[in-house]
Amino acid sequence: MPARESTSSAIPAFVSGSKKNLIGGKWVDATSGQQIDVINPATGKPLCRIAQGDATDVDLAVSAARRAFEGGWSRWTPHQRRKLLLKIHDIVLDHFDELALIETLDMGAPLSRTQGLKEWTSQVLQFFASQCDAAASSTAQNSLPGNVLTLKHLAPVGVVGGIIPWNGPLIGLWWIFGPALATGCTAVLKPAEDASLSVLRIAELMTEAGVPDGVINVVTGYGADAGQALAEHKDVDRIAFTGSIGTAQTIVRASVGNLKRLQLELGGKSPDLVFADADLDKAVPGAAMGVYTNSGQVCVAGTRILVQRSIHDEFVERMTEFTKTIRVGDGLDPNTQLGPLISQRQLERVMHYIDVGGGEGARLAGGGNRLGGDLAPGFFVEPTVFSGASNDMTIAREEIFGPVATVIPFDDMDDALQVANDTPFGLAGGVWTGSLSTAHKVSQAIKAGTVWVNCYGVLDPAVGFGGTKMSGYGWKGAREHVEGYLYPKAVYINLD
Ligand code: NAP
Ligand code: MG
Repeated sequence: MPARESTSSAIPAFVSGSKKNLIGGKWVDATSGQQIDVINPATGKPLCRIAQGDATDVDLAVSAARRAFEGGWSRWTPHQRRKLLLKIHDIVLDHFDELALIETLDMGAPLSRTQGLKEWTSQVLQFFASQCDAAASSTAQNSLPGNVLTLKHLAPVGVVGGIIPWNGPLIGLWWIFGPALATGCTAVLKPAEDASLSVLRIAELMTEAGVPDGVINVVTGYGADAGQALAEHKDVDRIAFTGSIGTAQTIVRASVGNLKRLQLELGGKSPDLVFADADLDKAVPGAAMGVYTNSGQVCVAGTRILVQRSIHDEFVERMTEFTKTIRVGDGLDPNTQLGPLISQRQLERVMHYIDVGGGEGARLAGGGNRLGGDLAPGFFVEPTVFSGASNDMTIAREEIFGPVATVIPFDDMDDALQVANDTPFGLAGGVWTGSLSTAHKVSQAIKAGTVWVNCYGVLDPAVGFGGTKMSGYGWKGAREHVEGYLYPKAVYINLD
């Protein structure tokens, strides 16, 4: 797994100079004039700068979003919004090679992953385009005396504040802009300061596609300033947040001023159960990539691999062999499968957990090192396997958000389910088995919003995913997501 040198020096023109915020249709510097360096995690070197927006910029963006919401945008018909979303679809897909490259440079995910998101982006945009009629009115039967007609409408909630993490902004922004445009809401998006570039470029393309001024706004900056200001803002009607539990708790507190609606998509420590009757040729790479995809920086990562004791040792051996075949390196190399972690801070956090895992008595079966040693450029960590772990160890309880798998043996289904559900999280889970009965029993018993059987991590935007317990509330994708951007309204009309 050598860290590979980049084989391409093609840097898009967009990745240069100082990037601005999009507020009310205009590209503007942060009012303070402050900027943040954008770091390429594969090299540790700066690429360009973004604006360090703060509460003043957020306030300007929210005012612009409010004006747009109350203005001409409110008269756009569902058909016009659908055409707009489809135009965005075409422009974004036409520029997808550039967008994938920007994402790879900015947050490290290899081109093999970012380019692979093209089809998914097409699906997600077409899905939200198909939802533009979600606010259609209907007549409702009523039990009132006399001659009263009741209508039920769904109306857009207003200005939506989106706050997303760095692990996949090329995906994450559509969960905000898609439903906002489908329903006639307006949005202010605050991407993570570690990965804002693809969002800024897509916002340019959306403007080109004809999104009216103020309908979408982007303010880059730190979470504690710009993010907090958005969560507190009295004129924001809904916050759609994706990120960690700690930040979510801050956002819940910040939202009380005007009782904002909240959608919280948080982290996990998802169990992936491998039964002795599973097809290991599929289960080994499937469960392994369920952890290591995007270098483990995935909310639904199946980081607790629960393996039936009779096959535990064989599974661990095969999984460890498999990790040796994974190509880790600069994402610009088309052969790279896993890129770097996002930042020095994340690298230190992951290496800390690897130390703790060994210290608490789990066996380090594979990996465990920073690639190239302590002084290497970039933030690369080997895919790491801990085996023979128990569920009370720190590496089984806390979200690491790095390429670290914790393998825990179990005896039977009851034992496995007890361990699987012994976590404060409830985002996802998986089961590998040859038995239909086991598959159904386990998928029903895992307390999580999404469960995969003999696969891991696949996602259809028309079906969606979400969490329970401390993994948050709200649903991403499907009609439920769109309805979160609408509020119901009843109209009673006396016809006499
Ligand atoms: P994070 O620290 O919570 O950051 C998420 C976003 O919140 C960033 O834009 C961050 O800004 C912002 N933020 C930070 N402090 C804030 C505050 N006080 N008020 C408002 N916003 C604030 O999460 P992360 O470490 O970047 O991302 C990883 C987490 O996201 C993991 O827990 C992962 O599981 C979760 N995640 C969940 C899903 C899902 O759909 N369930 C998907 C992906 C990731 P800055 O970073 O710029 O400071
Ligand atoms: Mg970066």
